[in-house]
Amino acid sequence: MERTLAIIKPDAVARRIAGRILQRIEEAGLQIRAMRLVRLSKVEAEGFYAVHRERPFFPGLTEFMSSGPAIVLVLEGEEAIGRWRRLMGATDPATADGGTIRKDFGSSIERNATHGSDAPETAAFEVGYFFPGIELASAG
Ligand code: GDP
Repeated sequence: MERTLAIIKPDAVARRIAGRILQRIEEAGLQIRAMRLVRLSKVEAEGFYAVHRERPFFPGLTEFMSSGPAIVLVLEGEEAIGRWRRLMGATDPATADGGTIRKDFGSSIERNATHGSDAPETAAFEVGYFFPGIELASAG
């Protein structure tokens, strides 16, 4: 059983398509273990994306991620990390496979509707970033 951190990014919340994304999560059989609407500060967005600090898109990305409310979720299931990444599709909606969330709902490589942890180590950091008490919640 794995847990992963998902974010419905500010572009998707602003366009009121969060419900359609949640529906895809549920239909895929991923369990929503925790969920919260957050308005990140610039500093919180910078902390979350700290691994990308040196990338040219970092200022724009953290500006965007703090531009409006987002929904953070903990998803749980067998191979939840990879399953959620496959549901999202490639980072750039223009190259994402048909039927993926980013293909259907993303507007650009930056405003790509969703985030998902890419490995168990990053999932542990990212879940803890938003839900420090998650290990206390009973699974089941
Ligand atoms: P992910 O794991 O698919 O989300 O991709 P990355 O970890 O490489 O990048 C994190 C986020 O930064 C992406 O989801 C995009 O929102 C943004 N991003 C990635 N690459 C670019 C880029 O080349 N340009 C811009 N503007 N944003 C990017």
